[in-house]
Amino acid sequence: MAGSRSSRGGSSSASSSRIRRIKKTFNNLKITVLCGFVTVLVLRGTIGVNLGNPPQSDDDAAAAAHDARVVEDIDRILREIRSDEDDDDEGRFPPPLTNSTSTSTSASLANSTSGAIASNYTLGPKISDWDAQRRLWLRRNPGFPSRTPAGNPRILLVTGSPPNPCDNPLGDHYLLKATKNKIDYCRLHGIEIVYNMAHLDRELAGYWAKLPLIRRLMLSHPEVEWIWWMDSDALFTDMAFEIPLSRYGAHNLVIHGYTDLLFDQHSWIALNTGSFLLRNCQWSLDLLDAWAPMGPKGPVRDEAGRILTANLKGRPAFEADDQSALIYLLLMQKEKWVDKVFVENSYYLHGFWAGLVDKYEEMMEKHHPGLGDERWPFVTHFVGCKPCGSYGDYPVERCLNSMERAFNFADNQVLRLYGFAHKGLLSPKIKRIRNQTTKPLVVKENLNLESKISTR
Ligand code: UDP
Ligand code: MN
Repeated sequence: MAGSRSSRGGSSSASSSRIRRIKKTFNNLKITVLCGFVTVLVLRGTIGVNLGNPPQSDDDAAAAAHDARVVEDIDRILREIRSDEDDDDEGRFPPPLTNSTSTSTSASLANSTSGAIASNYTLGPKISDWDAQRRLWLRRNPGFPSRTPAGNPRILLVTGSPPNPCDNPLGDHYLLKATKNKIDYCRLHGIEIVYNMAHLDRELAGYWAKLPLIRRLMLSHPEVEWIWWMDSDALFTDMAFEIPLSRYGAHNLVIHGYTDLLFDQHSWIALNTGSFLLRNCQWSLDLLDAWAPMGPKGPVRDEAGRILTANLKGRPAFEADDQSALIYLLLMQKEKWVDKVFVENSYYLHGFWAGLVDKYEEMMEKHHPGLGDERWPFVTHFVGCKPCGSYGDYPVERCLNSMERAFNFADNQVLRLYGFAHKGLLSPKIKRIRNQTTKPLVVKENLNLESKISTR
């Protein structure tokens, strides 16, 4: 199934977003007061700060002043970390370089649909000879070949999360687990990984942040053939499966989806932008340029959201998101792009979590890693869960439990290499599954595609 993608946590109206901001501020205040209170208690308990009574001596007075400063400092730091990044108190980035010809492609889609999105927004100075520039660079830098020693095209896995702490501290814990999961997969398959927490372009915060990042990485890593974007809330659940790159020799974008949902139904979940591959080439730079103009936050993104909702089947009313914008672009300019887009559904490059997480035990019973499809999904993506935000579309507890299960399901495939397994899919505890030996290399495990994984 395609997976559902309901409101991406962005509020659909200005008033609800205001209420959410107020709530968030109130929550931050509560957390700050709580932290301050805990700090005071700890200081009292450990170094005997006496806040209730007047200081007895000069030494006491100095100590009390020092401790008050510590409490103040901690409060200030917490306030700063938690302060809403949307407050534009710092200087803005300089406006993008405007080059009158550079925006023609990107703005044309917007112009064709609504004057309100006739933004002359660009991701950067227009580059039109990237293939030649890159070819020359590769020729001059033979130490950085675009193929791995095994002869495969070089892949860079790119992921990231917001610059600030999550609203719910458990969200940070799951970001860490999702990161460990990706590091494991990449280590096992010799793939480099980039984790980004910065907004390279202030206009494109949130789910749009991947666009300027992918462009920047293409330009900074000409040796990389494929950029593979993966959302922070997507986990590898098949640690053995590998992307069948040889299938995509004639394509530049590989994305999970269904062509009938896309071209016949114009569905907003026809494709999923939580995990996709983009070739490092001129075509991809052009695609990013054409894709970005609906992204600038504020009136442009809001108005674009209305157009997307009016044109895409099943789309709730909310600001423009990168996924709907890509679908819309491919529909509006089908001839221009479609030849180079590989819509993949023979395995789960993205797999919608709700249909998968309850079946892991059954999968372990019947199948083995390396299949990548519904028998053993390559990626389980927690669409709509917003583990790092506060306004997901599903109950937080269900999301976190399901993420824990997905993480442990995958982690068992890693731990097995070392002779361990989780006690159960909801348990962080592990047990030994092999006897120790004085000849470890004789029974050395590998990803062992054919053998089943048991936690019993
Ligand atoms: N993201 C990011 N920086 C941000 C916000 C989001 O890099 O400031 C990334 C993050 O990896 C996240 C992805 O954008 O997973 C897309 O957002 P999300 O997963 O919340 O959307 P959904 O898949 O639920 O539609
Ligand atoms: Mn996601």
